[in-house]
Amino acid sequence: MPELRALSGIGVKGPACFLLSIDGRSLLLDLGRGPDGARLPDLSGLPRIDAVLISHGHVDHTGGLDQWQALGAPPLYAPRPSIALAQEGPLTQATPLDGRDEILGLPLLTGAAGHAPGAVWMRIGGAEGLLYSGDVSRESLLYRNDPLPRAAALILDCAYGTADEPLTAQIAAIEALADQPLLLPCPAGGRGLEIAAHFLAAGHSVRICPAHRRVARTLVDHRAWLTPEGRKMLDSLDRAGDLDATGPLDGIMVAAGPNAERGTAQPLAARIAASGGARIVLTGHVAEGSPGAALLAAGKALFRRWNVHPTLAQAEALVAQVAPRTMLAAFCGTDALADLRDRTTWPLAPGERLVW
Ligand SMILES: [Zn+2]
Repeated sequence: MPELRALSGIGVKGPACFLLSIDGRSLLLDLGRGPDGARLPDLSGLPRIDAVLISHGHVDHTGGLDQWQALGAPPLYAPRPSIALAQEGPLTQATPLDGRDEILGLPLLTGAAGHAPGAVWMRIGGAEGLLYSGDVSRESLLYRNDPLPRAAALILDCAYGTADEPLTAQIAAIEALADQPLLLPCPAGGRGLEIAAHFLAAGHSVRICPAHRRVARTLVDHRAWLTPEGRKMLDSLDRAGDLDATGPLDGIMVAAGPNAERGTAQPLAARIAASGGARIVLTGHVAEGSPGAALLAAGKALFRRWNVHPTLAQAEALVAQVAPRTMLAAFCGTDALADLRDRTTWPLAPGERLVW
């Protein structure tokens, strides 16, 4: 009987790490760290791991890979764009996950999850197996998403809990702030390029940091992962200027990292916090203890979400597509999980285990 145990990722915002035991094999699905502090999944007492499957390159899904050697260096699989974008560590040596139809002899199906460069959902064990959504979005203008297949068991990205605001309304709220220069700290391998391309199309002067430029150049070799509109958006980024920490504060400035904790965003946000000249707008998860959290608390930054996870309505549609007999709602806190239990008819399992 297959079994799935969440080592981490249930009742809390990340890190992602799930142990799937199926047909005598043990697979780890993602091996993350953070996103708040350096939180790691508890890997003690695990059976021998036969393979590690990575859904995408974000640190809350890959940041625990420094434990990969300690796990016995099992075969490591990841989507091609995530491998291409990795700059260090085991992920650079991973075997492509997308395009495979089996893993350790088990049926495998993957598809584009619409969340980030190369983000995939994966189904292991066929229609009677498990579907792991990874991080998934149905609103990205840039990243392609494929419909989810049916599966007996589901782990679904519920990072936004019962929040239900559509991206179009969020974009309007951010645009309303663009009468002044805007610094938008973003993950380079995520919504940053989409935000930059959106503001370019809306006629704004836009600059992107070197980390975002690197991702844009890498994506040229992975255009099949983009929507048809997204391919035009990627081409349009040639018109975005180069952003550095010392230049003028004007127009739309898109810089990594997302919490102003590193990269070009860190010194730019510090400069703006000290001397003004632009608005700082955070659009994603604000990590505890980060400069972004401190800027928000001090009234030096604003928060306006740009969806990269499903709204409740989209999550409902995803559950209907998969039609699972049992499921876990992942990556949200206990309060949001309780709300989901109240407000949906999903077959949510108690606790952190699925057996089917
Ligand atoms: Zn992610």
